[in-house]
Amino acid sequence: MLTALDLLTANDTPGQHAPSYYAATANQQTSFPALQDPLVCDVCIVGGGYTGLSAALHLAKSGLNVVLLEANRIGWGASGRNGGQVGSGQRVEQTALEQRHGTAHAKLLWQLAEESKALVKSLIAAHDIKCDHTPGILHADHRKSFVEDSRDYVEHLRLVYGYEDIRFISGDEIGNHVGSPRYYGGSLDMGAGHLHPLNFALGLGDAAISAGATIFETSRVTGIEGEGREKVTVKTEQGSVKASHLILACNGYLGDLERQTAAHVMPINNFIVATRPFSQDEAREIIPNKVAVADSKFVINYFRLSADRRLLFGGGESYGYRFPEDIKSFVREPMLEIFPQLAETDIDYGWGGTLAITPKRMPYFARLAPNVLTASGYSGHGVAMATLGGQILAEAVMGTEGRFDVFEKLNIPAFPGGDKLRFPLLVLAMTWFSLRDRLGI
Ligand SMILES: Cc1cc2nc3c(=O)[nH]c(=O)nc-3n(C[C@H](O)[C@H](O)[C@H](O)COP(=O)(O)OP(=O)(O)OC[C@H]3O[C@@H](n4cnc5c(N)ncnc54)[C@H](O)[C@@H]3O)c2cc1C
Repeated sequence: MLTALDLLTANDTPGQHAPSYYAATANQQTSFPALQDPLVCDVCIVGGGYTGLSAALHLAKSGLNVVLLEANRIGWGASGRNGGQVGSGQRVEQTALEQRHGTAHAKLLWQLAEESKALVKSLIAAHDIKCDHTPGILHADHRKSFVEDSRDYVEHLRLVYGYEDIRFISGDEIGNHVGSPRYYGGSLDMGAGHLHPLNFALGLGDAAISAGATIFETSRVTGIEGEGREKVTVKTEQGSVKASHLILACNGYLGDLERQTAAHVMPINNFIVATRPFSQDEAREIIPNKVAVADSKFVINYFRLSADRRLLFGGGESYGYRFPEDIKSFVREPMLEIFPQLAETDIDYGWGGTLAITPKRMPYFARLAPNVLTASGYSGHGVAMATLGGQILAEAVMGTEGRFDVFEKLNIPAFPGGDKLRFPLLVLAMTWFSLRDRLGI
């Protein structure tokens, strides 16, 4: 059965980064030991992506004794493989959030999103993280009928949120920003940006270590005992950690480690390719101003140029849990739809990763027991939000819950059927929406 696949091992070599452009250009390789003994600490964190690393950094900075357990390597999961887009706002547009939660709550969510981008920038600066951070995301409309909505949304963000970093891009102007015949307009958000995601994760790992956290790699947590008691114990194959607080930061790779979280988040796979490096002139023809691009398709195409001028293109849909055998050919298809001029261009890397979505496409933050917290399900919008998520979890452990509450109060529902039925339902829904994309309805 599909849901029984173990995503920590199904598509990747355990203990090794996915064969991505990012792994090939990582600033350094980490090698922290595997946990082999019983340890005692204040806070144990499971998962070494942005959520776990940021929580570890902020807790250790406050003087707590922190142990982070990562099944593979730091940044091995979505955090080391993603599109690198540091987007504004939440995954869901503000107008929809206002309808769902009221304007006051929507404003708090916008404010947190602004804080998440600022946090990424301040961590990069404070810890001198070399991750090619570059400003600008272009939202490109693939249907003419969406362009007026983009104009209205830009206006809404200016008027209701006072956000001045975004501007409307008309059909006449879109070609100045992306060299594709497929787009009719959109918006350009210079308050957003993009970065090398694995190097950002590795930098967070270094910063957490410098602040005093202890990290173990190749240390998969296999069981949790004593939730709600004074001390929680987590077990790995060879060791254990007894902690006053536990943070679960496993996102799409959680599997059946914790059932309540599993019922609220659903793993899905997504894929990226990296072309050969382009010359300056070739690169300018594709994306003249070095911004990242995300388009309006239901199965989003997202792309940008790397520091060495490769096109990193994410797209394609697959609703099984196994990665396609030939990821390069799989993503080449949507890439050529957007850039037909690249038909003869070599693709040097192709990789996949697993993210997590929730039924409402907003992150799931919950207190599973008085001393057990979980945060995941950033729904494809986690570079900044998971980094903030880790800081918010750290605050909640230390007794400041204001920002945690903003997310917890979203009351994210479980998927119908909980942790068992969710996958077949998702396949049905996704197939329907992507069919609508193709039919243009
Ligand atoms: C292909 C792709 C493209 C994306 N593009 C973007 C983008 O452009 N912009 C954006 O904002 N977001 C994007 N995302 C989403 C973003 O990457 C995630 O939201 C974010 O990285 C989540 O971070 P995390 O720390 O919660 O999870 P992860 O980075 O997935 O980390 C979870 C970690 O937990 C570990 N783990 C799991 N179970 C255990 C266990 N039992 N014991 C020990 N360790 C365990 C895993 O090994 C993993 O390293 C993308 C995701 C993917 C996959």
